[in-house]
Amino acid sequence: MGHGTALVAGQELPVMAQCDVLVCGGGPAGIAAAIASARQGASTWLVETLPHLGGTASGAGVGTACDTPGGPIFDELAQRLMEVGAARYRYDPQKHRKPGRLRYLPDAFKLMLLKMVREAGAQMLLCTTCEGAWVQDGAVRGAIVANKGQRSLIKAGVVVDATGDGDVAASCGAEFMMGDPADGRVQNANFRWGLGEADRERYEREKPSAARVLELVADARGAGRLHPPRGVFHPPPDSFPFDRESERLVLTNWEIQGVDGANPRSVSECLADCQATALELVEFCRRSLAGYENCRVTWLPTMLGIRESRRILGRYVVTEQDVLSGQKFDDTIARCWFWIDLHDPPPGKTVPYSLEHVKSHQPPGGDWYEIPYRALLPREVSGLLIAGRCISADRPAQSSLRVIPTCFFTGAAAGTAAAMAALGGIFPHELDGRLVREKLMPQ
Ligand SMILES: Cc1cc2nc3c(=O)[nH]c(=O)nc-3n(C[C@H](O)[C@H](O)[C@H](O)COP(=O)(O)OP(=O)(O)OC[C@H]3O[C@@H](n4cnc5c(N)ncnc54)[C@H](O)[C@@H]3O)c2cc1C
Repeated sequence: MGHGTALVAGQELPVMAQCDVLVCGGGPAGIAAAIASARQGASTWLVETLPHLGGTASGAGVGTACDTPGGPIFDELAQRLMEVGAARYRYDPQKHRKPGRLRYLPDAFKLMLLKMVREAGAQMLLCTTCEGAWVQDGAVRGAIVANKGQRSLIKAGVVVDATGDGDVAASCGAEFMMGDPADGRVQNANFRWGLGEADRERYEREKPSAARVLELVADARGAGRLHPPRGVFHPPPDSFPFDRESERLVLTNWEIQGVDGANPRSVSECLADCQATALELVEFCRRSLAGYENCRVTWLPTMLGIRESRRILGRYVVTEQDVLSGQKFDDTIARCWFWIDLHDPPPGKTVPYSLEHVKSHQPPGGDWYEIPYRALLPREVSGLLIAGRCISADRPAQSSLRVIPTCFFTGAAAGTAAAMAALGGIFPHELDGRLVREKLMPQ
C-alpha cells in the first residue's frame, strides 16, 4: 500500500490512499463530485458500496431524469448517452419544461458514468463502504473504509459525503433532520423489478373483469400463495397487487411506507419482503393470468429506492418558501425548477397530483430557485461537504431538489469546492461561495 498505518480509535489501520478529495458514494451527486474534483486537478478517490455507479438512478431502476437543469456534467452525460442510443428526451408542453425529461437505460447510465469518471482521472473503489469519518484535530481528514480486503483508512484534504443518507456526516456528529417535523414520517420508498416474457397485449384483450381479478387475488392470498410486502402503500394492501382505482394490476413498482433508509435492518427487511413477493407474484401470474403463462423475473434492483432519509443541517437550510418564491443567492451553486413532489404517507398527501397542484408547488411562471453553497456545508464540522439528496433542506424543498439533475448540480459544486479547498490548503467553509460559483460557471 505504501502509505503506512494510522491509529484509529485504538486500532492500527493501514492507510490505503492519501488524496486531495475523497468522495463517499457513487450516485448522481458523488459521480459529479468526483468528475468535477478530478477535472480541477485534485487527486480524487471515489468509494462506492455497490459493484456499479449511478446510485438510486441506476440501482433502484429509475430510468428518467426530471425536467430541471443538471449543470454541465449532467448535460455531457445526456449527450453521450443519446449518442449511443441509450437515452432520449421526452417533452410534453403541458407538463414539462424544455428540453423535457431524459429517459435513459439504467445499465447504460452505469457504464457511461464509469467511463466519464475514469476519463476524468479519479480513482474508484467499488464494493467498498465508508464506515465513517476520520477526524483529526477537530476536522474531517479522511474516512474509514471497509471491504472484502480489510478495514483501512483513506486520508484526504477534503471529504464529500454523497451517500444519499449522510452517513459520513452523521458518523462524526453532524446534526441532521429526518422526516416530517410533526411525527418523523418519511416519504415512501419504492421497490422496482422486471417481469418479462409476458404477452401484455393478449392480457389486455383477454383480461378478466376487476371483480374476477380481485377473486383470483383473494384466492391466492387465502391459500397462502401471495403475501403483500409489509408496509405496502401502493398498490393498496387490501387488494395487492390490484389497484381498484385504476383497475390495473401493479406488478413491478411498489411504494412502501415507513422504511428508514438510514437503518440497514429496515432496508434489508423491506428488500427481502419485496423479493419474496416478487417470486410469489410470478407464480400467481403464470397460474392465473392469460398472456403471463411463461413470465419470469428479468431483473432485480441492487438497491431499494429511498427518497428521503437524513438531511444534514448546514449553514443554510433551503426551504419550501425558497422553492415557491424562486429565491436567489449570491453564492448560488445550482438552480432548480422541479416541483415539490412529496410521496407522503397519511396524514400527508401523495401522488398522483393534479397538474394544478404541480404548477402551484414550483417557482412561479417559468422562474427557478437557487441553492446556495452554504447548504453544502454541515454546521460545526470542518473538512466535509455534503451533496445530493442529503443536503441541508427542509422536507418539502428536499422533495424538489432530490431529483437526479439537481443532485448532479450539487455534486459538481461540492467536487469543485472540495478541490479548490484541498489544493488551497483551507477548509471548505473558509471558501467564499461566490468563488465556487465563478469556478462553476465556465464549466
Ligand atoms: C423510487 C424513486 C423514483 C425516482 N424517480 C426519479 C425520476 O423519475 N427522476 C429524477 O430525476 N429523480 C428521481 N428520483 C430521485 C433520484 O433518483 C435520487 O434522489 C437521486 O439518485 C439521489 O442521488 P444521490 O447521489 O444523492 O444519492 P443516491 O442516488 O442514493 O446515491 C448514493 C450512493 O452512495 C452509495 N452509498 C451509500 N452509503 C454508502 C457508504 N456508507 N459508503 C459507500 N457508498 C455508499 C449508494 O450505494 C449509492 O450508490 C427517484 C427516486 C426514487 C427513490
